[in-house]
Amino acid sequence: MATGFVFHELYMWHNTWNWAQVFPPSLTVQPGEHAENPESKRRFRNLLEVSGLLDQLTPIKPRYATEDEIARFHTRPYIERIKKLSAENGGDASALTPFGRGSFEIAQLSAGGTMAAMDAILDGKVKNAYVLCRPPGHHAEADIGLGFCLFGNVAIAVMHAQATKGLGRVATVDWDVHHGNGTQAAFYKSRDVLTISLHQDGLYPPNSGNLAERGDGAGFGYNLNIPLPPGCGNGAYLAAFEHVVLPALRRYKPEMIVVPSGFDASGVDPLGRMMVSAEGYRQMTRMLMQAADELCGGRLLMSHEGGYSQMYVPYCGLAVMEELTGIRTHINDPWAEPMATWGQQDLQPHQWTAIQAAAKLLDDIK
Ligand SMILES: [Zn+2]
Repeated sequence: MATGFVFHELYMWHNTWNWAQVFPPSLTVQPGEHAENPESKRRFRNLLEVSGLLDQLTPIKPRYATEDEIARFHTRPYIERIKKLSAENGGDASALTPFGRGSFEIAQLSAGGTMAAMDAILDGKVKNAYVLCRPPGHHAEADIGLGFCLFGNVAIAVMHAQATKGLGRVATVDWDVHHGNGTQAAFYKSRDVLTISLHQDGLYPPNSGNLAERGDGAGFGYNLNIPLPPGCGNGAYLAAFEHVVLPALRRYKPEMIVVPSGFDASGVDPLGRMMVSAEGYRQMTRMLMQAADELCGGRLLMSHEGGYSQMYVPYCGLAVMEELTGIRTHINDPWAEPMATWGQQDLQPHQWTAIQAAAKLLDDIK
């Protein structure tokens, strides 16, 4: 069955201004590009086209999420603030989240694209789907945008489907190198959504994503953080999947699996210190597809988050799309050979200790 793909040129027109990675320019910081700029995303889409795989995907047209739909998660004053700044000349949703004129509407289209893909899967039009959108969403909280994220695309789409489509249990598996704090916050008191995040321990946001954050009230046990030490390669990530993520999914038995998908855990990302390769992303995708086939009719949705290597995000993304479609292209990963020579890519003892600590928390998922 088909794989859906959401893209819109307007996603590339979300303006994050003239920065220097994550520092505002000043008389001592030379202006350049903000880390969250269109290029890695545009190149991902372009490689899909060059590989021929784009022709095999089922295009899904994004729509604009309404303010009422966004307000299922975000507060009205926050929505109004972003809307007003966007209509003027842009602004900043927090210290790191600049946006230009019109970004409110593009953020509506980003959330609405994720909703459209969700609907297409639930309506049986496609089996799985990838939403290549910006701005990203997994750091945004109810009343503040954080970490380049304006609105919580995945949280809004899940709330939409649970409110209007009768969708029951949903599991999110966030493999972005940063903690999925916004998705966690959205469902912290709910057992209707199991939120899982694998991330580099202590990276971003500060003091966020530790093992003790397990949910609250009825939601206790249904938030599972897997903080990993810097330097983890495919060995640690696949072990975390095998020993924590997949057992958690099998205990929870979701009706759908949703992935906030960041490629910033790759070995060459400027904003993370992990060593995952395109092959690692491929294998994680395969494991989630097998879990989805076993538990929820293959229903698997991915919505784009981080990933800042302009050179490597396209190859990680292509590997994921090849796996989702079951179609291998002729494109080879240029980083596979050099990255294979780097040490400590297999599971290391201190990484295994971190994974075991997270595995101890599985019993509360019922
Ligand atoms: Zn990230």
